[in-house]
Amino acid sequence: MLIRIGKEGDEMAKPIIDYKKCNVCKTCIEVCPMEVFKEEDDKKTKKKKVVVAKPDECINCKACEVQCHKTAIKIID
Ligand code: SF4
Ligand code: SF4
Repeated sequence: MLIRIGKEGDEMAKPIIDYKKCNVCKTCIEVCPMEVFKEEDDKKTKKKKVVVAKPDECINCKACEVQCHKTAIKIID
């Protein structure tokens, strides 16, 4: 059985990216201590985009939400 260590109530927290605001600056990739985000190619546009690759790893530290200069990230829990 996998046991997660974190604050009570944080288990379901995960970031959502608003792609209307995101400019792929990659700050969220740099600041996330859990490597939740990654850059990948958008299959439709062929451009780079940042995706929430490992939402289950999020520990709800809110570093990404605070540091995103486009306010493109919201943490939902
Ligand atoms: S920090 Fe914000 S604007 Fe920058 S890549 Fe992440 S979501 Fe997009
Ligand atoms: S809240 Fe913290 S752990 Fe969760 S995605 Fe943002 S930076 Fe990573």
